[in-house]
Amino acid sequence: MAGTKTFFIIKPGAVSHEYIGPILAKINANGFHIAALKLIQLDRYHAEHFYAVHHEKPFFESLVTFMTSGPVVVGILEKENAVADYRKLMGATDPAKAEEGTIRKLFAENIERNAVHGSDSDENAEIECNFFFSKSERYSKFED
Ligand code: ATP
Ligand code: MG
Repeated sequence: MAGTKTFFIIKPGAVSHEYIGPILAKINANGFHIAALKLIQLDRYHAEHFYAVHHEKPFFESLVTFMTSGPVVVGILEKENAVADYRKLMGATDPAKAEEGTIRKLFAENIERNAVHGSDSDENAEIECNFFFSKSERYSKFED
C-alpha cells in the first residue's frame, strides 16, 4: 500500500520571488495536510548529502551552489498516496515539459531553478523527513 507522507522543499528562487504563500496554497488546495514546516538555510554539507545520488552528474556542483544560495522551506505533507500525488502536482523536472497548472509550470524558472522538490519513493520520503525533522517537530494526522 502506498504511504501517506512525502517530504518537500520550496527551493531558493521560489522563496526569493515570494512564492512561499502561493505554493503552500496550491498544496493545501490539492488536499495535502502540512505536518511539518520550517524556513532554513541549507549549508553545503547538507545540500551535498541530500542530493548525493546525483554527485556524478554534470549539474551537481551547480545544483549544490543553487540550493545553498538562499533560504529554503522544508516540510512534510500528508495525504493518501502522498509521494505520487505530490510529484504529479509538482510537474516535470523541466518546467518547459510540465503540465499546465502544476507548481513547476507556474513557478519554476528553468530545469535547475525548478521551484520545488518532492520525494520520489516512500522509502526516500522516510529518510528525507528524518533528515530534517525530529518526531516532536511533526503534527501528523496519520501517525502517533
Ligand atoms: P527533485 O529531486 O528536486 O524533486 P526531480 O526528482 O524532478 O527533482 P532529479 O532528477 O532528482 O529531478 O534532479 C534533482 C534536481 O537536480 C532537479 O530538481 C533540478 O533542480 C536539478 N536538475 C536535474 N536535471 C538537471 C539538468 N539537466 N540540468 C540542471 N539541473 C538539473
Ligand atoms: Mg529527485
